Amino acid sequence: MVIVMDLAAGAEQIAAVQQRLEQFGFEIHVIRGVNRLVIGAVGDRRIINSLGLEVMPGVEKIVPIMKPYKLVSRESKGEHSLIKVKNVVIGGDELVVIAGPCAVESREQLLTTAHLVRKAGAVILRGGAFKPRTSPYSFQGMELEGLKLLAEASAETGLLTITEVIDEASLEQTHEYVDMVQIGARNMQNFRLLRAVGRSGKPVLLKRGLSATIEEWLMAAEYIVSEGNENVVLCERGIRTFETATRNTLDLSAVPVVKWQSHLPVIVDPSHATGNRRLVAPMAKATVAAGADGLIIEVHPEPYKALSDGPQSLTPEDFNSLMVELKTIAAAVGRVVGRECM
Ligand code: PEP
Ligand code: MN
Repeated sequence: MVIVMDLAAGAEQIAAVQQRLEQFGFEIHVIRGVNRLVIGAVGDRRIINSLGLEVMPGVEKIVPIMKPYKLVSRESKGEHSLIKVKNVVIGGDELVVIAGPCAVESREQLLTTAHLVRKAGAVILRGGAFKPRTSPYSFQGMELEGLKLLAEASAETGLLTITEVIDEASLEQTHEYVDMVQIGARNMQNFRLLRAVGRSGKPVLLKRGLSATIEEWLMAAEYIVSEGNENVVLCERGIRTFETATRNTLDLSAVPVVKWQSHLPVIVDPSHATGNRRLVAPMAKATVAAGADGLIIEVHPEPYKALSDGPQSLTPEDFNSLMVELKTIAAAVGRVVGRECM
């Protein structure tokens, strides 16, 4: 990092800063400008905040050079990571499509959807059993019953499964029933949960927080990986902006930014990003063209009856048409999509 000294910093103040850095093992390089002095310090960035440098007399500011995340950074690994969820690899040539209802509502709803999305080419079935709803009066999910239905749907169709965990108790319950867990936007900075998922070793889909910067999102991933779980897939799901025409604003540039800054795979959720079924297909297509590793899409057999997120859910027919269209775009960027149809 670089320590920028005040214009008026005296020799004693400069020496005191140098001394403090050296005391903690930093290698220092002093750069004298025409009327200002800066100190370049090379060493362990994690301890810099505990040195109190910014409050030392004569210091104007500290400018970090390196990113605060290490394990998930691109520099820490030469190549992109391939995340395995049983027989599915996320981050490779296959564009992995996760589809299913926002929430598990009944056996019939889940099994019908599972069969239809599998036929269309999805490889992982989604379905929320614990729903973190904005209103306490909205449907909160079927919980354990929902998890059992996910396991049944998986056994019947061969699809892998993913569900959201909202706390440590739900994570524990989920463990034996699903193949991958999801940390939702509202919990992206629930650091205890991130650590617990890190210890669980389960593949995890980490959604971007409602108002999180890419750096904050990658720091959340760092929490999971630092507990020893490297099976992290990131998911851009739209961020809060001033725009009201869509539920959120899909930050598609997050896809190439993540690819550039991190080795982790990144997928996109055009359903929550737009909140509108008409916009899901165009944004899904753009996502594939932008180089994402996959998609997570809400599909409901009867969206008008959905207990959660009906307006943004595709019908199975619309999902099937989208999957056909995605093939051409995927092929243009060197990827394959749609297992059943291959
Ligand atoms: C969901 O996937 O149903 C969900 C609640 O998503 P998010 O956390 O992105 O809002
Ligand atoms: Mn939803």
